[in-house]
Amino acid sequence: MIDSFRTLFGSADGVRVFRAPGRVNLIGEHTDYNMGFVLPVALQLATTIAAAPARDGKLRIYSEHQREMREWNAAEIGCLERAGHWSDYPIGVARELARAGYATRPANLLIRSSVPEGSGLSSSAALEVSAALAFLRGRAMDPLDLARLCQRAEVTFVGMPCGIMDQYVSIFGRANSAVAIDCRSLEHRYVDLPSGIAFLAVNSMVKHALAGSAYRKRVEECAAAVERLRQRFAGVESLRDVTPQQLDAVELPGVIGRRARHVVTENARVERFIEASASGDLAAMGKLLVESHRSLRYDYEVSCAELDFLVDAALSVEGVYGSRMTGGGFGGCTVTMLSPTAIPRFREEIARAYQCEFHVAPAFYECQPSAGAGEFPVA
Ligand code: ADP
Ligand code: MG
Repeated sequence: MIDSFRTLFGSADGVRVFRAPGRVNLIGEHTDYNMGFVLPVALQLATTIAAAPARDGKLRIYSEHQREMREWNAAEIGCLERAGHWSDYPIGVARELARAGYATRPANLLIRSSVPEGSGLSSSAALEVSAALAFLRGRAMDPLDLARLCQRAEVTFVGMPCGIMDQYVSIFGRANSAVAIDCRSLEHRYVDLPSGIAFLAVNSMVKHALAGSAYRKRVEECAAAVERLRQRFAGVESLRDVTPQQLDAVELPGVIGRRARHVVTENARVERFIEASASGDLAAMGKLLVESHRSLRYDYEVSCAELDFLVDAALSVEGVYGSRMTGGGFGGCTVTMLSPTAIPRFREEIARAYQCEFHVAPAFYECQPSAGAGEFPVA
């Protein structure tokens, strides 16, 4: 990577390398922006940025994925507007850092990533967090503040009203552990997963155009549900505060009611999944994954034909405990819990079935829980 950096920018003097992982969310979908619970793991798939100071006052960023170089005056970063371009992610982060007192220094950045873009494995947070580390260049910042800053960059500058999960786990991820996050208190605990199982993400290779607008709509629908519930129950500030009994008592109308039911039941499933994991009840864990998928499909309506097909196909393979869509939905990946010995046969059968139905080859990623973001030692 340093050779590539030298070729691109003419010199690699002062280069430092920073890495931030993507993630797969095991359970707790669309709950983070409702102040609820999530259980993601940081992946080995990661975004890596090589960065060195520039002498000409410029900030230059090159993305290998996008095969594109962008350039600004470092002094101008604070006044830039959204461009509707991939560079909004790092620039949004630089702008938030500048506002927090970490002025943007002239620099050259090379971005390399093994996280597939727009597939629900959070290439966006991997880019934000690795960019933040590259801009900070060792200047100290509290990790939770850093996660919130990166989320703020995505919400305010990119314009995506996302929750905190992706940035949080990219920073706090740990090898061999899932991270149970309380998205209201912003506390986490590490969850050891039982031995004898693996998680495999399958990429449907589609991303329907609806994804962004539907996400915003769901955020609004949840706010509307909270508004109604608040009139009935004092102290309800988010769907996190609502019990299944309260929801039944109110009988919210049609769509709003189903959205709320997904979030309320999904929060409960996260807790139950962690309990089942602690007691090594693999069958119960698998069942909760499938219930989560059905809830996302019928109540939250963020699945699609490709994801439903991948889940159903997975469940017919021997050695599979459960499967669900993961990430925002409308394409991207599923995550499947299975016996490690079943992986080769699973890949073969799923690839064949999916290719036959949708005429594209799915991609597979083994989800080995990995460490969170940090600097990569350069020899
Ligand atoms: P996800 O986070 O699930 O991968 P998003 O839609 O949230 O999907 O983020 C994907 C977007 O992030 C891409 O469309 C692109 O703008 C930006 N992005 C991610 N990785 C890179 C990269 N390596 N280079 C440039 N842009 C990237
Ligand atoms: Mg994203």
